[in-house]
Amino acid sequence: MSRFFSDKFAELEAYVPGEQPKDQQYIKLNTNENAFPPHPAIAGAVQEESANLHLYPDPECRDLREELAKTLGLKADELILTNGSDEILNFAFMAFCDRHIPAVFPDITYGFYPVFAKVDQVPYREIPLKDDLTIEVKDYFQTAGTIFIANPNAPTGIALPRNRIEEILQTNPYNVVVVDEAYVDFGAESCLPLIREYDNLLVTQTFSKSRSLAGGRLGFGAGNPELIRDLETIRYSTNPYNIDRLTLAAGIACLKNDEYNMKNCRIIMETREWTRKELEKFGFDVKPSSTNFLFARHPGLGGEELYRTLKEKGILIRHFSLERIKDYNRISIGTREQMEKFIAVVGEIIQQQ
Ligand SMILES: *Cc1c(COP(=O)(O)O)cnc(C)c1O
Repeated sequence: MSRFFSDKFAELEAYVPGEQPKDQQYIKLNTNENAFPPHPAIAGAVQEESANLHLYPDPECRDLREELAKTLGLKADELILTNGSDEILNFAFMAFCDRHIPAVFPDITYGFYPVFAKVDQVPYREIPLKDDLTIEVKDYFQTAGTIFIANPNAPTGIALPRNRIEEILQTNPYNVVVVDEAYVDFGAESCLPLIREYDNLLVTQTFSKSRSLAGGRLGFGAGNPELIRDLETIRYSTNPYNIDRLTLAAGIACLKNDEYNMKNCRIIMETREWTRKELEKFGFDVKPSSTNFLFARHPGLGGEELYRTLKEKGILIRHFSLERIKDYNRISIGTREQMEKFIAVVGEIIQQQ
């Protein structure tokens, strides 16, 4: 820390993204990227748009917003586009939390939430998950604060049905409820159909997981137009050109070929369930998943040990040192071929126990 760094950030611990080591070729099952490359039409669209890079992008992102509205069956003024969904989540902390309105979220959830709370200088309260790592919906009734719920949750992979989220919305008419649907396309129920009924609902999604665009940095929020306008005020006050021209072009080409993305999601879900069965044969306890990853532990093998041994053998998975989940690992679902290799190596490790 330099002697110039503001005191207000003295205690700030930055978010730590999944490792991207370059020392060797790994099978990367640690950052929940999509197993499939983006649709081939995207390359041409991006190349063509690159001729316009001397010009600023459209700050209103009009064409992409229209295309997204069409894809989702919504109106353009119900949507805001952001640089990954991390940015819309940060905007929500900025717009809807303050000294008197804490952020409220589960103790085990997306690790960025406490970081946003700290960097935005807002208090937060963590509500423990139940012993089985599911959310106790009643704990969120009549909450004094802005609620952040990842659904499906991360890193557990467990989803709540839409009607349970609706109970939280109904019992919190004076609070904004943010539903982070980063993984919703892998088998969970989206709350997008509820945004016209509940003016306190903000749904966030990303192109990073189900649409194979993690490197393009594209996410969005969906909600009542007034809520969206507040978030636009924050966006125009930080970076009105938050989506660059190449990503705008990539996003449009991506949505025009959305059957490709949704088909890949189905393949990943099949591979996920195949991987689950194989892990269970080895004695793993695997949480139900509505995502492109599995959260699993083995009774005879520590989470950290499995992570380290796999890394030595060229396979990366994600281990979290948080006390409650240190026995687990989060395993992203790759291609069928990658997962067969993963299962073979895990089998060898288990046998050597
Ligand atoms: C990956 C992820 C995000 C955001 O990812 P972006 O790449 O910034 O869109 C948000 N929430 C959860 C729970 C995630 O896992």
